[in-house]
Amino acid sequence: MKPTKCIDLGHGISTIDTGYCRPAFDASHLIDAQGQAALVDVGTSHSVPRILQVLQDKGLARRDVRYVMVTHVHLDHAGGAGALLQHLPEAQLVVHPRGAAHMTDPGKLIAGATAVYGEERFRRLYGDIVPVPGERVITATDNFELSMNGRSLLFVDTPGHARHHYCVWDPASRGVFSGDTFGLSYREFDTRHGPFIFPTTTPVQFDPAALHASIERLLAFNPERMYLTHYGCVEAVPRLAAQLHRLIDVFVALAREVAAEGGRRHEALVAGLQNILLDELQAHDCRWPEQRIMELLAMDIELNAQGLAVWLDKSGGKARQ
Ligand SMILES: [Zn+2]
Repeated sequence: MKPTKCIDLGHGISTIDTGYCRPAFDASHLIDAQGQAALVDVGTSHSVPRILQVLQDKGLARRDVRYVMVTHVHLDHAGGAGALLQHLPEAQLVVHPRGAAHMTDPGKLIAGATAVYGEERFRRLYGDIVPVPGERVITATDNFELSMNGRSLLFVDTPGHARHHYCVWDPASRGVFSGDTFGLSYREFDTRHGPFIFPTTTPVQFDPAALHASIERLLAFNPERMYLTHYGCVEAVPRLAAQLHRLIDVFVALAREVAAEGGRRHEALVAGLQNILLDELQAHDCRWPEQRIMELLAMDIELNAQGLAVWLDKSGGKARQ
């Protein structure tokens, strides 16, 4: 196994690379509150050895981990939770009420992802999805609070990417663990302007009005930083929030434009998203060759295109107010 990548961010927080898909793509965040620890998002079952290795390297015992928090139940965030919990005897799973049943009985998640990826690719990406025993599950409704050694964490219901999504406000670091609600920002695209960010419209619950509102809800805490699952810590929160709001509207406008393309709609969405993101990255002074940019964004563009198509089919292209 390659050495585990772990970046310490201060405030007892570290970004652990789960190894899903490519380096620096999918993170688990460790919060160490003086000997009591939590993980926010955990990657897939294949990520378990990496996370356990980081705990060991940091001198944390497995029983010190009290909570495994999954921001939502998409498999790149929560797929490994059941397998990981088998190694963490004192940990409870904290999940949005709408996601809890999928964690105790992952049959639907497995069927859904197998339909998208096929059996073989599913196993390669996610491995075994282990059910979480019901008695180890805590559901976090809006404004639910937890405390670890006096360090309080606040759970905020944040629909828009998915209806089973919460974010976690951590006053100690003035940071938010944002899952996928506050978009995607890869370190490869950092320039002298700072980080680049864009929204994720993954199927099947993208809801632009809800996503705008959830971003505003997070801003109301006046956070100094965001801990993104994809990928790591970003600051300059107000600028990034403005970019997200703008790009949500740009993506939705693209979807409406191509809504009538029929059988060519998916292609038109992919091509449109490619053009938008290439232009935005150029304006951000990103110097990567186009081919490298497309390699880095291929999967997100495909998922965003699928999610925008699902949104068009459900909403008829009308944004709910
Ligand atoms: Zn994700």
